Amino acid sequence: MNRHVNMGRKLRVAIVGGGMGGLAAANFLVRRGFDVTVYEQAGKLGEVGAGLFIYPNSLRVLERIGFQGPLNQVGAKVGPGSQYYRMDGTVVGPILTTDSNGWNGMYGMHRADMLNALAAALPEGCVRTGHRCTGFEQDEQVARLFFAHGAQAEADVVIAADGIQSVLQKFVVEPQAPEYSGSRAYRGLVSRDKLATWNDRTHQVWMGDGKHFMVFPVRGGTLLNYVGFVPTGDELAESWSAVGDRDELAASFAGWHAPIVDLLTKVESCFWWGLYDRLPLSSWTNGRLVLLGDAAHAMLPHLGQGANQAIEDGCALSIFLEGHAPADVPAVLKDYEAFRRPRTDLIQAEARRNGLRYDSRSGSLEQRDREIATSAQFRKSLYDYDVEKDALERLGRVPAVA
Ligand SMILES: Cc1cc2nc3c(=O)[nH]c(=O)nc-3n(C[C@H](O)[C@H](O)[C@H](O)COP(=O)(O)OP(=O)(O)OC[C@H]3O[C@@H](n4cnc5c(N)ncnc54)[C@H](O)[C@@H]3O)c2cc1C
Repeated sequence: MNRHVNMGRKLRVAIVGGGMGGLAAANFLVRRGFDVTVYEQAGKLGEVGAGLFIYPNSLRVLERIGFQGPLNQVGAKVGPGSQYYRMDGTVVGPILTTDSNGWNGMYGMHRADMLNALAAALPEGCVRTGHRCTGFEQDEQVARLFFAHGAQAEADVVIAADGIQSVLQKFVVEPQAPEYSGSRAYRGLVSRDKLATWNDRTHQVWMGDGKHFMVFPVRGGTLLNYVGFVPTGDELAESWSAVGDRDELAASFAGWHAPIVDLLTKVESCFWWGLYDRLPLSSWTNGRLVLLGDAAHAMLPHLGQGANQAIEDGCALSIFLEGHAPADVPAVLKDYEAFRRPRTDLIQAEARRNGLRYDSRSGSLEQRDREIATSAQFRKSLYDYDVEKDALERLGRVPAVA
């Protein structure tokens, strides 16, 4: 097709979902000069959630657009001393906390802190809360969104960043239910003050008996985020706000290494998540509509890459769309999808494999421990990746970054 440089008006981009992927994409797009509006169903951003990791692969591109200071302020750097253990406390080996250059670009982050930092950097009025999207249509010229309270919006590009339960996904592919992993995750936060001897700059993972447990700091180390992964037959809704049973959580890890048992006595409340992913979708785009983040490639959390991949998506999409006219959008979105899919398909599959390792369901413990050691190589390749550089190179443009 003939694609031409857009000398006219700015492309109008509507993003449905003000979560990790939607707000990160908005920031990358605003920096590249697009006219961006984010529609979020919640009445307020970032009210719920727990901790997640931001790794070098997404941090390097966020820092380039000005987030070095803000994320350093709200995150907790996680570094040396981070370890894998068997459930009884036997050390399995170190956890990788740098890229190949030794850059320790790894933060434990409270989801609400991250969302607030991303939102604060957007222009006034860019994010519209209280907008639950219920419908989509498009023609050759424009895409239209419909909201539950009756409002409508028009755009040249619609980004569906509406999470694993995406309502817009059905406008791209046949509806297909997410796959249940057989595990639930209990997550919550404990004040560091209650665990004075705990190292507040490390990531610790204990593995065994079909379960695993991890702890890492968030909010400058003032809070410790814990996650207990437990097998269950009951499917539970994937949600950022379902209240869990702390006694059930404690019982699940009774007899494990003493620091976990001790931490669990300090837990006052916790949330739980049913863990779901999807097999790679047959497509991420339909005309002017493109899926991003969990809506496109929901993955299990066992590599901690869901949000990181959503952030990479937004960076790449802003580069692919740059300079294009509205008529080019459908073809540009296809090119973007072809660029991103090999990486996210691989990470979706590896996240499943890593979950089996963490739950000690992949052969003998000795074999599992060896695999944990060798999987550091894969993690290095994840962390070393520079999506901005790769996208610019794919498009034959010279990266402005080293
Ligand atoms: C236990 C656990 C641990 C995890 N740990 C990590 C980690 O360490 N690192 C990591 O990178 N990832 C981690 N993840 C994954 C990560 O949380 C997700 O991959 C990430 O949040 C996906 O971002 P998203 O923007 O696609 O979706 P979300 O962050 O879920 O955001 C979707 C947004 O869309 C809004 N929305 C939904 N429907 C509509 C609608 N109809 N109209 C308007 N708005 C709508 C929602 O309210 C929400 O704000 C973890 C996940 C779990 C469950």
